[in-house]
Amino acid sequence: MEIIPLTIIIILVLGFLRIMFSATSDYTGEYIIRHFVNRYLLIRPIKLEHLHILERKSEYYQNLNEANKRLFAKRVGKFISMKKFIARGNLKEVTDEMKTLIAASAIKITFGYPAIYFQSFWKIIIYPEAYYSTITKKRHHGEINLRGLMVFSWKRFKEGYENYEDGVNLALHEMAHALIAENRTNNYEFDFLNNENLIAFDDYFKVEKEKILKDDKSFFRNYAAVNEHEFFSIVVENFFERPKELNKYDHNLYKLTSKILKQDLLTQHN
Ligand SMILES: [Zn+2]
Repeated sequence: MEIIPLTIIIILVLGFLRIMFSATSDYTGEYIIRHFVNRYLLIRPIKLEHLHILERKSEYYQNLNEANKRLFAKRVGKFISMKKFIARGNLKEVTDEMKTLIAASAIKITFGYPAIYFQSFWKIIIYPEAYYSTITKKRHHGEINLRGLMVFSWKRFKEGYENYEDGVNLALHEMAHALIAENRTNNYEFDFLNNENLIAFDDYFKVEKEKILKDDKSFFRNYAAVNEHEFFSIVVENFFERPKELNKYDHNLYKLTSKILKQDLLTQHN
């Protein structure tokens, strides 16, 4: 007689697992494990190989004090365990360096927000170079997409850090888009940015857009005039890559960006 309830339990468990790990859903059981179990239950240190990459290759990390270095590394380790990294195109594998530097970019921009891990973006797709999008019918270097994806061309990603003073950085650009998107997505990472600051930011967009359209020496590249989202991303790129110059160009805009990101590269040794 006991065999019947047991069979029912097995069928129910198998059915549950089938739904959890369904390949057809964008938010599968794997997402749940990564984003909830890895986030709250797995307290494991960053892998040594990832830590060594941070030490060698992340200038931001190198400039932190010891306490913040530990915090940064811990968050990088957690970010890596929360995301699924996928190689596409003719990229053979996702290397530890790719994982670490992508995670470091995410933690850098959210260092003022210790609870934010870009919950909506859990799959990170990496192409070796620019890739063709069937949606836009164009070649892209990077994008975020609310189906849960962050996408990067590794070539362009690396170029962003090789010229770390020109205010152009793909990783920071896309992470800034992700920050705004995450803030607007109704999940437990919802509405963490101060709305008044974001509204104030839009006034700067109007000013800079005018300057760009009139060819009146804006500090920012022309793409910043496309819309307020592109403007925000480009300001963030400059905030990290050339804070002194941005501060000199427009102190109030620098301060506002610093308030939004809750970090100030000029006054703190982080
Ligand atoms: Zn953009």
